[in-house]
Amino acid sequence: MSDSEARPTNFIRNIIDADLDSGKHSSVHTRFPPEPNGYLHIGHAKSICLNFGIAQDYQGQCNLRFDDTNPEKEDIEYVESIKSDVQWLGFQWDGDICYSSNYFDQLYAYAVELIEKGLAYVEELNAEQIREYRGTLTQPGKHSPYRDRPVEENLALFEKMREGGFEEGTACLRAKIDMASPFMVMRDPVLYRVRFAEHHQTGDKWCIYPMYDFTHCISDALEGITHSLCTLEFQDNRRLYDWVLENISIECQPHQYEFSRLNLEYTVMSKRKLNQLVTDNLVSGWDDPRMPTISGLRRRGFTSASIREFCKRIGVTKQENMIEMGSLESCIRDDLNENAARAMAVLDPIKLVIENFDGEAEQLTVANHPNKPEMGSRNVPFTREVFIEREDFREEANKKYKRLVLGKEVRLRGAYVVKAERVEKDEAGNVTTIYCTYDADTLGKNPADGRKVKGVIHWVSASEGLPAEIRLYDRLFTVPNPAAEDDFVAVINPESLIVKQGVVEPSLVNAEAEVAYQFERTGYFCVDSKDSAADKLVFNRTVGLRDTWAKIGD
Ligand code: ATP
Ligand code: MG
Repeated sequence: MSDSEARPTNFIRNIIDADLDSGKHSSVHTRFPPEPNGYLHIGHAKSICLNFGIAQDYQGQCNLRFDDTNPEKEDIEYVESIKSDVQWLGFQWDGDICYSSNYFDQLYAYAVELIEKGLAYVEELNAEQIREYRGTLTQPGKHSPYRDRPVEENLALFEKMREGGFEEGTACLRAKIDMASPFMVMRDPVLYRVRFAEHHQTGDKWCIYPMYDFTHCISDALEGITHSLCTLEFQDNRRLYDWVLENISIECQPHQYEFSRLNLEYTVMSKRKLNQLVTDNLVSGWDDPRMPTISGLRRRGFTSASIREFCKRIGVTKQENMIEMGSLESCIRDDLNENAARAMAVLDPIKLVIENFDGEAEQLTVANHPNKPEMGSRNVPFTREVFIEREDFREEANKKYKRLVLGKEVRLRGAYVVKAERVEKDEAGNVTTIYCTYDADTLGKNPADGRKVKGVIHWVSASEGLPAEIRLYDRLFTVPNPAAEDDFVAVINPESLIVKQGVVEPSLVNAEAEVAYQFERTGYFCVDSKDSAADKLVFNRTVGLRDTWAKIGD
């Protein structure tokens, strides 16, 4: 799928255009700053497409920076998955990968500078007291008894913090700003805290770690970022972002702009919640095909082009909103309808015996795409016994039912017209086998005597077809906004994964992961990249053929 041609426009690009026109900047430098504490999700894709997309379109640069200031929650596994997801989405960072932890020495020096200027102090109230002193939205905070320590004492105590002289939670470094500020983030925010934790990049070099607000703006400035794009919840933090950069000796003054997060119906996007789904084994892993993660969507069969197209269609604004799952699905459907080869698979097989067909399998030639001859054709074996879908047969039915009915005819896709003559049943009365005759003069043409056969159903040779596990996915949650529930786990959809033991046409024996097929009449599928093997095929349904969401919701 080629991404739709036109460049997106949005308020951020308008700002950039203005900054380039006015000469405020001569080039654009953005960054994507994930914290390596989980796998990337579709919300991150929005930020990735925005940051890397701007760099591409303006011939600028975009850094990949790991915002790694929380050693306990972070892990190298996440670092690796994030790199691979960004590349799979079709983007490449400029230069080396950056880590906030690369700047720990500089950050420490800037903290010392703030102390020397009387703009930071070592706090010895505990966390609860700090909270108490902070006040509320309607009440100003109170000054800490440690707030007016002399500079020399602060310098010595900060040094002591670094040397491991304080237990966790007994001291921290705070900026001295304004305990009465209407912006809570400006009420003497914590800049550094004590953590005796091993860091995935710096090992045990540090036992004090800088806070996000202190780290992010300085990292941006050190990297020469011009436009620092983040989500709306950081709107108030912009005051602190600017305060830090104004009060330290640093040249570059990047500017922060906020846009609204992507929220998607019937899923959750917080890494904490996604992590819980994984650690509590409520899904099979971060790349479970029901997860809204990039790796989950990829394993499910989404193409990177469809995700980029989705990000383009939703746009970038400051409006909080909730996007329908249908809009993500229509992007992948548009892509696969165009590009997926057709094949046949039966998800819920029932046997059909063609009693007047004798002899060897007949190799039928079937087009791989109805409108794209350039996609070629393949052989599909037609045999005396085939499988059809159980739901495609009824002993009796009215005229609306355009499939196989006892005593009536239907066309087997790409093959012949068959007529159901009789059935065999088990003791419970369930049909186990359908006996048919076929009209040998109907391959690629209508019956000679003008009989009208309207229905067409798909089928797979019973003797030549391959058994396959077929995984059908539905929304992971039963409510549009699971994050709003007291317990989001309670609204997990028990039918979000349904496993079928089906059968697929033999041409799929070497189907490769991430190659999509449209299984006639049942949806778009791809081989599961983890669990499928030549002797035990596993297919994931990426998406159905039509939007069934519209009628599910009300
Ligand atoms: P969470 O709150 O779930 O932990 P996060 O925002 O802390 O997510 P980060 O790793 O810090 O996750 O995110 C990296 C970048 O991706 C940030 O700039 C963040 O604003 C952006 N981002 C995260 N979630 C979304 C989302 N749902 N929509 C758009 N951008 C997002
Ligand atoms: Mg974050």
